[in-house]
Amino acid sequence: AMDQAVLDKYAALPRNQIQAEYVFIDADCTARSKCRTLDAARVKQGVDRLPKWTYDGSSTGQAPGDDSEVIIVPRAVYKDPFRGGDNILVMTDTYTPGGTPLPTNSRAPAADIFAAKPGEDPWFGLEQEYTLFNLDKITPLGWPEGGYPGPQGPYYCGAGADRSYGRAISEAHYKACLFAGLSISGTNAEVMPGQWEYQIGPATGIAAGDEMMISRYILKRVCEDFGVHVTLDPKPIPGDWNGAGMHSNFSTEKMRKKGGYAVIESAIRKLGFKHAEHIAAYGEGNERRLTGKYETADINTFS
Ligand code: MG
Repeated sequence: AMDQAVLDKYAALPRNQIQAEYVFIDADCTARSKCRTLDAARVKQGVDRLPKWTYDGSSTGQAPGDDSEVIIVPRAVYKDPFRGGDNILVMTDTYTPGGTPLPTNSRAPAADIFAAKPGEDPWFGLEQEYTLFNLDKITPLGWPEGGYPGPQGPYYCGAGADRSYGRAISEAHYKACLFAGLSISGTNAEVMPGQWEYQIGPATGIAAGDEMMISRYILKRVCEDFGVHVTLDPKPIPGDWNGAGMHSNFSTEKMRKKGGYAVIESAIRKLGFKHAEHIAAYGEGNERRLTGKYETADINTFS
């Protein structure tokens, strides 16, 4: 393993510039990043003054090899919990050189929708579940190799070496998100052993998406440090084991006010009319998780 203590010797070297880790979303909705040097004076001027940058979209499945440039535009800045100090993480979104959002850039249309309804004050509370694996990507963390632990029951919010697997990762991720400035509001061990959850929010409008993607990036980096594989797969182990989802809690200003219950009912009815359309947008593999069992609804039934 690479020795973090050796790295610390170099990380402690004094420098005047800021290292800015630009995070972008690839064709699989996974965060990747690359780093550049910025002057501290420029960073102080705010996210709108940070330089745009580029990456090779032919290496991420987002552009052809003969026209591979993807432009990334800074949208939000967070403190970098890995380098510490005044170094930063920069959430970006992706464009063609002509300025058109890439098909995988769902942030751009979402930001337009939020901007068109400034009075709604939409709050999101996002509950992200994830599953930890050994680096073989087959054995969930803490499980016997080639076998199964005892059945579900004791693991949810459990404490003890016989039922809690990976708490150091949950804890390190929590602290790193707080340092970054994210509105992480809690964490808990989940129903399947080796499975955890954290919550982002309440966060308003597009900030909720930005914070979720950065929190997932931080989770990947923390797991990299611990030599553990993390997946957001909806049903990583088939059978009598809970899947992992991201539950989304949502409200607008009108819903939170007196008389809001009628507004909530009306919104829910509208969601029901477009159930299939929404399920299709929620990512791949949800039919393996949303079976109506293991604390889920059936994927074909709106409730
Ligand atoms: Mg949960």
